[in-house]
Amino acid sequence: MKLFIIGIGLIGGSMAKDLRKLFADIEILGIDSNPDHIKQAIKLGLIDAEGTMDKLIEADRVIVSVPVKIAIQLVSQILDKINQNTLVWDVGSTKNILCKALESHPRRDQFLAAHPIAGTEFSGPNAAIEGLFEGKPQILCETEKTRPDLLAWAEETFSKMGMYLRMMKPKSHDKHMAYVSHLSHVSSFMLGKTVLEIENDEQNIFDLAGSGFESTVRLAKSSPDMWTPIFEQNKKYLTESLNAYIENLNQFKQAIETDDFKSLYEQMKNTNQLTQILNGIKIK
Ligand code: NAP
Repeated sequence: MKLFIIGIGLIGGSMAKDLRKLFADIEILGIDSNPDHIKQAIKLGLIDAEGTMDKLIEADRVIVSVPVKIAIQLVSQILDKINQNTLVWDVGSTKNILCKALESHPRRDQFLAAHPIAGTEFSGPNAAIEGLFEGKPQILCETEKTRPDLLAWAEETFSKMGMYLRMMKPKSHDKHMAYVSHLSHVSSFMLGKTVLEIENDEQNIFDLAGSGFESTVRLAKSSPDMWTPIFEQNKKYLTESLNAYIENLNQFKQAIETDDFKSLYEQMKNTNQLTQILNGIKIK
């Protein structure tokens, strides 16, 4: 099997590791705008060699793992170049604009919109992790538009990688990602920004970080190259979730200013139910 991975960073590289374990006969070719990443990916054994766009006709499978803004045009160009049995899937964190852009592509049925809900705050091929996707959801959108034989292969392969599948409409995917994931990233970035602005003693930040700052601000180490286009593409739902978040922050501030600690206590107690939700226990 000949697999092309376009964008051989954290997600593309982690996919390469797992797929190499699954398919003994796999040959993986990488395409990346960053020549250092191609060199690193070869050294790390993520890819066998560099590939080129004009060789895509030879591909059995293509993974697109670049920032979401770039994927919009790139997936369409890739679909123009593949053979009739190639499956192309993306891993991008937004889905609505991409699915709309590909709506009338003559090869739409050879594309699968996918989003593995797994990752870290690091990027590039060195960040790739074997088993990253184990036990994690793979969200698939508009599966009815993908050719059944190609979809069946993808579903079986994702399951073998240890992922469980969830089907969502592209808009619904973007909305729920804004509410849970994208808002968390904004919150972490802005928490980090605020602390950098109000605490100008770096030694204090370093010494006191263990009190909660370090874990809360982990996502603020993420790549702006990746996150700016996600926020841009999910503007509507992100604004909606930010409005709710800002409202809560204002209420919390007001409760402190007015000594309404009973209300603060209730709000925090109620939020503690996250423990059960994140441990997978149903709340009655
Ligand atoms: P990454 O580690 O930065 O990898 C992306 C790679 O694509 C980098 O090597 C980048 O090079 C390269 N690239 C950028 N523009 C390109 C172009 N025009 N053509 C070819 N290669 C290009 O990012 P990632 O975290 O793997 O994210 C990739 C995709 O996965 C994104 O769409 C993201 O939304 C999605 N995703 C990410 C996570 C996560 O937690 N990170 C989770 C799920 C899904 P440079 O670094 O030089 O730009």
